[in-house]
Amino acid sequence: MRIGIGFDSHRLVKGRRLILGGVHIPFEKGLIGHSDADVLCHAIIDSILGALGHGDIGKHFPDTDIKWKDIPSTDLLKHVVGLMKADGFELLWLDTTIITEEPKIMPYIENMKKEISKYGIPQKIINIKAKTNEGMGFIGRGEGMAAFAVCVLRQSLYNPII
Ligand code: MG
Repeated sequence: MRIGIGFDSHRLVKGRRLILGGVHIPFEKGLIGHSDADVLCHAIIDSILGALGHGDIGKHFPDTDIKWKDIPSTDLLKHVVGLMKADGFELLWLDTTIITEEPKIMPYIENMKKEISKYGIPQKIINIKAKTNEGMGFIGRGEGMAAFAVCVLRQSLYNPII
């Protein structure tokens, strides 16, 4: 068994599309970053890389590389799920939390799970929670949002690496 934790945060700015869990959410601001800045996908990716012992998202997809510019984060997720399978691990559970003051995330959660499931993580093992930061700090002021993810991996019985 392996456990991994992931965290990410990005700045919210006007003139960007808001993408969370691969889903476009209508809002006056979007997240800014080298890719589409999908904080949920980035936290999930870091949790899986953490459980695999493969460093972090910045090591695999450096923001100095033009190749990853404006790329959908779901493409990065697909790549990391591929690494996990190549290492002989399977995902047992993925729990996540998105923290943002606005917009309301709840109506989009099922769509996010459905979207993420297209990239190799079954919908039934994903949990997505959403909460505000009670008006405190950068999230409370609407300057950005953050996400956490924790995953549990199991080494496949049919493909042991140890
Ligand atoms: Mg990020």
